[in-house]
Amino acid sequence: MKILDGKLAAQAVKEQLREAVEGLKAVGKRVPHLAAILIGDNGASATYVAAKVKACEETGFTSTLLRYETSISEAQLLEKITELNNNPSIDGILVQLPLPAHIAEEAVIKAIDPAKDVDGFHPVNLGKMVQGQPGFIPATPYGIMLLLEHFQIETAGKHAVVIGRSNIVGRPMSILLSGNNQPGNCTVTLCHSRTKELEAHCKQADIIVAALGKPEFLQASMVKEGAVVIDVGITRVKDDSKKSGFRLLGDVHFESVAPRCSWITPVPGGVGPMTIAALLKNTFQACQQRH
Ligand code: NAD
Repeated sequence: MKILDGKLAAQAVKEQLREAVEGLKAVGKRVPHLAAILIGDNGASATYVAAKVKACEETGFTSTLLRYETSISEAQLLEKITELNNNPSIDGILVQLPLPAHIAEEAVIKAIDPAKDVDGFHPVNLGKMVQGQPGFIPATPYGIMLLLEHFQIETAGKHAVVIGRSNIVGRPMSILLSGNNQPGNCTVTLCHSRTKELEAHCKQADIIVAALGKPEFLQASMVKEGAVVIDVGITRVKDDSKKSGFRLLGDVHFESVAPRCSWITPVPGGVGPMTIAALLKNTFQACQQRH
């Protein structure tokens, strides 16, 4: 069993981007600028946004963090997004999800200029991805594709099972893996909460992407010997032995599943860092297109 080390692969992506940023500076061009919006005081969201801002700094990007109280109205938030859309010094906009219940996620996603939608959630970018046209690919599935590419995992002709059909992870992942690309060219089964005999599907898989948000859901009995397992899940579970008061669990029962795998991602240190690397790549691309 080998580890799909997301920290290592993300470092390689960031190094390439850092050099590219130096290249922009050398010819007197503006460096990429990401604006991140964080609403409320959700601890996990604050941690993710802080990691994204830190990654921008490490890579030589400019970043702006805009924090708002949970009481911000949908109209006020949409106005802020319009300001960022119209601000020529901003290349990428990300709104950290989830949003407070009184704000419609769909309206917020649609308000972002598709040319600045570096999370790749806007319907225009999702449509482009489905058609295989260039655009912004949702950061987590894009990060997983970069991870597979980094470790040269053979995917062509393989049977991939994706568990979870969300618009930001599972569904785009299934489309990317089935695309006529490298990585890609998989035969894909997309499983979800209404799937029958999930275990039987998983057992046939050469590649499993677990993105359902249920800690340690995927057990050894569900995994074929030699499978590649990608664990997208991150759930905070109460743990009084930790200083933070919680530990992070993935959707895969790592201890029992890992010995059966050819490759597996750890949690943390697998998909998480790659999501950030993909976000940076999208932001760089947005900047290049605007230059
Ligand atoms: P979501 O809640 O939007 O979607 C979960 C999906 O899982 C749904 O489509 C549902 O049909 C399916 N599902 C639920 N229970 C199931 C079951 N018992 N069997 C089969 N399918 C089932 O979640 P999401 O936003 O896609 O995120 C999934 C997980 O990935 C979460 O733990 C989230 O925190 C994590 N995540 C991690 C990253 C990262 O960077 N590592 C990024 C995004 C999300």
